[in-house]
Formats: sequence, structure tokens, C-alpha cells
Amino acid sequence: MRRGLIAASLAALFQLAAPGVQAHDPSQATYLGNEGVLVTHGDTKVLFDAFYADSYGQYTLVPDDIVESMMAGEPPYDGVDAIFVSHVHGDHFTAKPAIRYLRKHPKVRLYGSRQTLDAIAGELESDDPILRRITVVDLRPHDEAKHLHVNDLDIDVVAIPHAGGPSRAGVQNLSWRVTLDDDTTVIHFGDADPNRPDFDRHGEHFKARHLNAAFPPYWFFGNEEGESIMRTYMDADRVIGIHVPAAAIGNGEAWRQRAGGDLFTDPGESRPLSGDTSADKPDTETPATHVPSDD
Ligand SMILES: [Zn+2]
Ligand SMILES: [Zn+2]
Repeated sequence: MRRGLIAASLAALFQLAAPGVQAHDPSQATYLGNEGVLVTHGDTKVLFDAFYADSYGQYTLVPDDIVESMMAGEPPYDGVDAIFVSHVHGDHFTAKPAIRYLRKHPKVRLYGSRQTLDAIAGELESDDPILRRITVVDLRPHDEAKHLHVNDLDIDVVAIPHAGGPSRAGVQNLSWRVTLDDDTTVIHFGDADPNRPDFDRHGEHFKARHLNAAFPPYWFFGNEEGESIMRTYMDADRVIGIHVPAAAIGNGEAWRQRAGGDLFTDPGESRPLSGDTSADKPDTETPATHVPSDD
């Protein structure tokens, strides 16, 4: 009784002391590994490229403690609304852990390409109810953007060719732009090739919304065409490079300096996506000296 009273008065005190706190739900992006990102706006939460099993000897896996928290639905991984998958390479998507997650979290939907669905279906009986929770967007690079509106999410998606040349041309690589609660908009590019014409053809789509954050692969930084694409098509409060090799873990500042922009390097690190983010934007004047390539 007494403890309850104290708690209630403390809560009242905090409300008095910080009247603005409830006015706006904070938005945040949390890095999981490679191109895996959790984006939250209050209770609305989405995951990008969060379930995969291959590091290919150089990329970051999602650490076991984060995987366990996601699977258990512990904060901040509780109440996830949707999973988005860029493409089926093993450093972005593996069917088994995604299925395991979908089984444990029956309200979550997964959005992916035809190839993503095929990978999941290959592991399941044809009447498995999980298959009904998958939304397939079967796009090719020349197809127009597709729009979906589901509950608290506005979703716009195009296909951008995978980096690495013609040998990767058969891989459907989707770029998902998601707006949470009409408030927070982010875009993910999967393993997009920094090739200007692939973006020009979807110019109106990319310019249609101001972004709280854009997540291009890190090879856009310091690459002339990649930089031009970021300037032209990423009208974003924050541009954060992803797919940074595991060698950058613990060494993020040096990698960000070299890239001349922000990068996610250490799983678990996060950035606020709402409010005034201008003060802590990294110095983008620094010229890049290292130009990584994708293959
Ligand atoms: Zn790939
Ligand atoms: Zn990749």
C-alpha cells in the first residue's frame, strides 16, 4: 500500500517535472548486425534483415544475446509489427531462424520478394499457417514502386539491382521505405548497386518523402556515384551506412572518419530518430580515403 502510494507520487512528480515527455513518442534505430536494423516509434516496431546465419567470414552476425532477446520478445524487441527482407543472400536472410521467430510471434508479418517466399516455403508444409503471414512483393528493377498500407505502417518498395555485377542480376533486391505511425520514415536498400540510373528511374518515389533515416550499404560512402545518389535521393536527417565488415567492431570512430559519414558498426548501438538530430550529425566534410567495393 505504502509502496504503491510512493510509486504513484513519484510518477506524478515526474509528469510535473517533464511535461513534454509524453508529447512525442521517441523514435530510434538499433543496429543488429550486417544490414539488420530495428526501427521503433513508440510501440510500433519493424525489423529489417534481422534473421540470417552466414557471415561469409567477414560480416557481422547478430550476437547471440540479441538473437535470444528478439526470440523471447524482450524489450526493445517486444511488440514487433513486421519483418522486412531485402534479399535471400545468407548474410541477410535464412529461412530457418525467420520461421522460428514467426512461430514464436504469431502476430508478426513478414514482407519479402518471391525468392524470400520460396526460401521459406521450401522449409514448410504447403498448408503451414505461417505462409499466410507473408506478403510477397514480386518486383523487378524496372517495375514501378508498390505501396502497401497495413495498420500503423505505410510501405513503399522498389527493386534495385544487387551490387557486384551481372552475376548477381538474378537476385531480387528490394528497397523498403517504411513510415511508422505517420511519423517516422526510414529506408533500407539491401545490397543496392551504387548505379545512378537504377535510382533515377525511381526518382519520384525516392523524393516523395522526407526521411528520418536512410540505411545505404557502406560502399555508397566515398564512391562517387554512391555519394551522388545519397545527395540526390536521401533527403534524410540521418544517413547511416550498414553492411560494414565485422573488422570495424570496436573501431567505429575510425571507420566513420574514413567514410566521411555515419556507420553502424557495433551490434546493439542505436541512434535517436526524432527531435533535433543536427547537433550530433557526424562531420560529412571529411573526405573519404577508403573506397570499399562489394565483390
Ligand atoms: Zn547480397
Ligand atoms: Zn550482403
